[in-house]
This record gives sequence, C-alpha cells and structure tokens, in this order.
Amino acid sequence: MSRFLHVVPVADAVATVIRISPKPEMETVPVESAAGRILAATVTTDMDIPGFDRSVVDGYAVRAADTAGAGEAIPTLLHCAGRITMGRQDAKAAVGPGTCAYIPTGGVLPAGADAVVMVEYTEEAADTVLVKKAVSHGENVLLRDEDFKKGETVFSAGRRISPQDAGVLAACGCAAVPVAKKPVFGIISTGNELVPVTVVPGPGQVRDANASMLAAYLTEYGCIPRLYGIIPDERQAFEEVLARAVPECDVVLLSGGSSKDDRDMTAAVIAAMGTVLVHGIAIAPGKPTIIGRIANKPVFGLPGHPASAFVVLIAIVSPLIDRMLGVQQHLQRTERATLAVNIPSQRGREEYVRVRVENGVATPLFGKSGLLNTLIRSNGLIRIPAGAEGLEQGSEVEVILW
Ligand code: AMP
Ligand code: MG
Repeated sequence: MSRFLHVVPVADAVATVIRISPKPEMETVPVESAAGRILAATVTTDMDIPGFDRSVVDGYAVRAADTAGAGEAIPTLLHCAGRITMGRQDAKAAVGPGTCAYIPTGGVLPAGADAVVMVEYTEEAADTVLVKKAVSHGENVLLRDEDFKKGETVFSAGRRISPQDAGVLAACGCAAVPVAKKPVFGIISTGNELVPVTVVPGPGQVRDANASMLAAYLTEYGCIPRLYGIIPDERQAFEEVLARAVPECDVVLLSGGSSKDDRDMTAAVIAAMGTVLVHGIAIAPGKPTIIGRIANKPVFGLPGHPASAFVVLIAIVSPLIDRMLGVQQHLQRTERATLAVNIPSQRGREEYVRVRVENGVATPLFGKSGLLNTLIRSNGLIRIPAGAEGLEQGSEVEVILW
C-alpha cells in the first residue's frame, strides 16, 4: 500500500455509502411507544373522524334558523326537549322547530339540530330556554368527517413520529405502528493510548471520548449502539473484535487508526476481511476516513480526534442512517445565518467549520482539530464546498445545528 491516501470527493464517498447501505427493515411497535421512531408505511384512517356530528361546547343544540334575531334584549324562547348523554346516540332527543336539547361538549348532535348555542348565552327556566345570541348553521359543531375522512392518508412513510403524531395515530385506530427497525451500530475505539472513562489517564493516555459521543448520536437518531470497548493497535485485536461485531451488528464504526501510519491497522484489517471502498475523503477535518465492507455490512474507520469523528459522522455516516431508517427529511436541523467574519479555505476539499450561531450571526471557532472545547462551544457546523476558496463576511450560510 502507498504511504498516501487516495482521496475522493465527499459526494463520491456519500454515493458509496448509499450504494452499500442495507435496506430499511420494518417492525411494529405499540402506538404508545412509537414516538421518535420513523414511520415505515402510509397510515390511513379506518373511519370518519370524529365519526359523528359533535358539539364543541356545552350548550343547547338548536336549529340555527330558530335563533335568527336573538339578542340580550330580545331572547328567543325555545322548549327544551331533553338532554344529550355523553357517549350515546340519543334517538329521543331530536330537535324540531321551536325546540332545543341540552348538549355537553363532545355530545352527539341530535337529529334536526344544526348548531349549538353556548350555555353562556342562555338561561334555563323549567322546560324553557332563553337564547340570547343567534347562531349560524354549523356553529359550534364539528362534522363527522371534518377532521379526517375514512381512508384518507393521515401520515406518509418516512416521518419521524412526534408525541402529537402518536395521539393522532391512536385516534385513527393505528394500535400497532409500522416503523423502521432500529439499526444496530457496533462501536469500537482503537488506540494503545486510550483508557475507559472510569480510569484516570496516566502519562500519554487519554480517555475514550468517541465511544460515548458516537453512542449518544446514534441513540438520538433512532439507532442502537453496541459498544465493544477499546482495542489496542494490534492486528489480532482488530481481527477478533471485527469477527465478533460484524455478525452482531448492521454497521460497524471504528474510531482511530484510520490514517496511513504503520501503526494504523484499520484499513489493512478491513481489506483482509472484506473490501476497502474508500480510504481518504476530501474533507476537513476527517480526511483519513475509511469506508469498507465485511460480509456485506458497512464498516467505517473514523478519524480518532473526536471533533473530526463527529464531522465525519454528520457528513458521511448520517446519510447511511437516513437510508436505513427510510427517513424523508435529513436528520439534522439547519438554520440560515450571516457569517461574522471571512473564512479562508483550501480549494479542492469540503471543509466543515464549527460555529457559534447567535441571533442569526454565525461566528467560526477556529482551533486545532484535536481540541475538544470547540465541540461544546459551538452549536453547529457550516460547510464550505470543495470548489470555494472560502466564505466572505456577511454572506448567508446554512448552519447544520447540533
Ligand atoms: P488516530 O486516528 O488513531 O491517529 O488518533 C488521532 C488522535 O485522536 C490521537 O491523538 C488519539 O489519541 C485521539 N483519539 C483516538 N481515539 C480516540 C477516542 N476514542 N477518544 C478520544 N481521543 C481519541
Ligand atoms: Mg490511534
């Protein structure tokens, strides 16, 4: 192997990722635990909703025409023919000319009535109701298919289910919700210098930050992280952990050991156990990234620096997650902002700059790629396309928020 990476443009790397991405799989979950999942099929209603003409206030069901001209000074007198019981269709409570029926919020509008006068505008004395306000046809009434018509598409596949969606799904009779199965991502940290988070690092050692960061990101976006701990820079350790992780996971992420240093084993081991499709991407930070495949499963070698690994996660790995979950909209939210200062950039590679966005202004946080603090002082990234020599102060940019 040569000492230098053969870098490919970001678009090519993403195309490779999409080409090897496993197809979304489907499962069903109870509607009460569906929030956060990605809907895997279209959902239609099994009936008209609400299903019957319904009052939206407490009051009196009337024929609107009977209330014409009614006001504080000249109330209309109606005969109260009965009271509607909640949850029942009451045949006896029909409303004819000159009559009305008491109806609670959510009660079935009785036959003959076409509107409801709010109780606040009425007075009841014995069987007589004084109506002090005129209502028009349909006032204070929800029609039987006004919310959703039977068979109507309420949700399309690919939607991330919100808590509100879960409520509407339940109302539509969707008890078992078809969702994308959560892909399992194996996470392996590599490096002789790494220690677990529970260990105080000795001289030359650093705590494993990547495993927690990758796991948190994957969890947030609806995947299942499976942690394989830290392995040393030894070929046998790489082979053993991959032999375990590949069959147990849908995708495997290794971090560290992806550059072209003779210690860096990831590419060599992936090549021996499967195929290296990309080694080197024209992206900064994140150039020494590997995309490979073992037993038809995508295997990524991410750079070791946490900030670089995170950029690669967003730019290169997240399109795979989108695909595997079948999401319609990209995972990350974006926001437009004005750039506070000029940002120089090298033509020929896509650069990602961490920025702090406040009140619509994006200020870049320049710093060495090994720094952790820029990860938390920033709240997003801006992308400088490979063909650009930088971005000018005052230009409008799209910030990928985190
Ligand atoms: P590498 O990509 O293995 O050459 O590592 C590049 C840098 O990232 C080195 O300073 C590593 O110590 C650091 N590094 C690698 N893996 C991790 C990790 N899991 N957590 C924190 N830092 C890491
Ligand atoms: Mg390393």
